[in-house]
Amino acid sequence: MRVYHDPQPLPLINFYKKRQPWIWRCHIDLSHPNPELWEYLKNFILKYDAEIISHENYKGDLPLQHKIIQPAIDPLTPKNMELSTKDMDKYLKKNRVPTDKPILTQISRFDKWKDPQGVVDVFKRVRKKIDCRLVLCGSMASDDPEGLKIFEQVQKKSNNLIEKGDIILITSENNILVNALQRTSSVVIQKSQREGFGLTVTEAMWKGTPVVASNVGGIPLQITDNDNGFLVEPNDNEMFAEKIIELMKTPALAKRIGESAKETVQKKFLITRILQDYLDLMSEILI
Ligand code: UDP
Repeated sequence: MRVYHDPQPLPLINFYKKRQPWIWRCHIDLSHPNPELWEYLKNFILKYDAEIISHENYKGDLPLQHKIIQPAIDPLTPKNMELSTKDMDKYLKKNRVPTDKPILTQISRFDKWKDPQGVVDVFKRVRKKIDCRLVLCGSMASDDPEGLKIFEQVQKKSNNLIEKGDIILITSENNILVNALQRTSSVVIQKSQREGFGLTVTEAMWKGTPVVASNVGGIPLQITDNDNGFLVEPNDNEMFAEKIIELMKTPALAKRIGESAKETVQKKFLITRILQDYLDLMSEILI
């Protein structure tokens, strides 16, 4: 969950208009805000000229000009750049992730809305049909006091599978490791119960890895079911398992979905598109 309020310094526009627009950009799901907190935050937000939201449903009741600009990723950062096999092996080895079996991965904070326990349940179903491993990679967010509790619950639920090495829990934060996991996994799962946009989905799609994800929040803005990924209702663990098994058993399907996913990100979710959106917004506000 991230909230930015950032002044946009555009020297040329300022030169002509002698003022700098202030824009509030929000990637969180505001459809059901905590009323007390929202009333408090609103007083600050109302000072802005416009708001940027990533989904029509997040509009809320602010009397501000709003524009929908979906997030995007930078393909040149350590998290998204191309990696050599040597580098991937190095980072996976360092984090004790063997590549002898297919890997299912969820990259997400240990948070109840990311449903890591549900992921373990899905994995147990998949494992009955395919010998594979699960990696749950989630740094502990310092602003999330529930993280440790959720982590311990996941640990308990995974129990002997952790000892066997079939479930690997990673809490260290490293962008190249995330990149390597997203590239090496046979399937990436994103079993969110709620999701603002879901950058982990974009990141995996960019790497051509098939994603099976919940049909919530910003995820359906990215995935069209059975075209560039699979969308599943968030609590339908059986369907999650079914789609993952299908992808692991059918390389041609995984390839088709992965290629289509990469093409989607290339067209819609790279930072070059955001630059154009921002320039359009600036001219709308200032002209
Ligand atoms: N992330 C990471 N390490 C982790 C878990 C998450 O670097 O252990 C990154 C992930 O790659 C993504 C971001 O944190 O870039 C999470 O964004 P997302 O929109 O998926 O979810 P949020 O955490 O904002 O709800």
